[in-house]
Amino acid sequence: MTLLRLEQLTVDYGGLRALNALDLEVATGSLVGLIGPNGAGKTTCIDAITGFAPAQGRVLFNGRDLSGLRPHRRANLGVGRTWQSLELFDDLTVEENLWVGADRQSAWSIVADFVVPNRRRDRTAINEVLELLDLGDLAHRKPSELSHGQRKLVSTARALAAQPALVCMDEPAAGLDHDESVALGQRLRQIVGAGTSILLVDHDMDLVLSVCDFVYVIDFGCKIAEGTPAEIRVDQRVVAAYLGDEPTAPGATTDAHADAEADR
Ligand code: ATP
Repeated sequence: MTLLRLEQLTVDYGGLRALNALDLEVATGSLVGLIGPNGAGKTTCIDAITGFAPAQGRVLFNGRDLSGLRPHRRANLGVGRTWQSLELFDDLTVEENLWVGADRQSAWSIVADFVVPNRRRDRTAINEVLELLDLGDLAHRKPSELSHGQRKLVSTARALAAQPALVCMDEPAAGLDHDESVALGQRLRQIVGAGTSILLVDHDMDLVLSVCDFVYVIDFGCKIAEGTPAEIRVDQRVVAAYLGDEPTAPGATTDAHADAEADR
C-alpha cells in the first residue's frame, strides 16, 4: 500500500529549478532511500514533502493531497522529519526534547496547557522511543553533554516521539564513524519494524544500499534512476553522476560533484 506518493514534484528557487518533476513512492512499512550528489535537491525534496518549501505538483499522503498545507498540519497528519542541523534544544534534557516533538500543535493542546498547565500526558510513546533507540540512560542529560552520534539519535527520537507514519530523515549518518553508521542502520530497520516508514536521505552509500528496500537517485533536481539497492549499485547513470567513469564504490562520497554544483 502506498503511504507517500510524489507526482511531478517541482521546486523553483528564483531562476533555479532545485527539484524537477519528481515522481516517487514510499510504501507503508518500507525504508526508501533518496540519494544524489551534492546539491541534487534531496533536502529540497524533504522540504517540499513537509511543507517547508513551496512546490508545484502533488504530495499525496495516505491518498490525501497535502498541497497548500502548512508544515504543522502535515506533521499532525503523520509526516515527520529530521534536520541536518539537528535543531535540538540545548537547555532541555533529552526527554524534554522528546516531549517537544511529541506535542503536536493542536488547538486542543494549547487550550489544555493554558487551563491545566501541569496536566498529565501519555508517557507511553516517549518511553517506547527512548527504549527503541536505547536512549533511556541519557533521558535526563542535556544534548550538549552527548556525543555527536548520540545527538543524532536524539534528533531521530524527537521526530519519532510524534508517532509519525512517515519520517523523512536528512543525513542522519553525517559525521558518524563506520561502526556508528552500521548501528544506525540497524536502528532504522527497527524503526520501520515498529511501524514508521522512512524516506532516508544520506551520502553514506554503504548505509543506504545496505538498509533500504528501494532507492531513488536524483541529480540536478531530476530523477536519474530508481530500483533495488542491487540495481542501483550497478546503474551506469548513477556511476556517471557520482564518479564519472569510475565504478560505484561502497563508501563513495559525492565530493567529485561539488565543483559542478559550485559552478551551477
Ligand atoms: P547536499 O547533499 O549538499 O545537502 P541536496 O541534494 O540536499 O545537497 P539541496 O540542499 O536540496 O541539495 O539544494 C538543491 C539546490 O537548491 C542547490 O543548488 C541549492 O543551492 C539550492 N537551494 C536550496 N535551498 C535553497 C533556498 N532556500 N534558496 C535558494 N536556493 C536553494
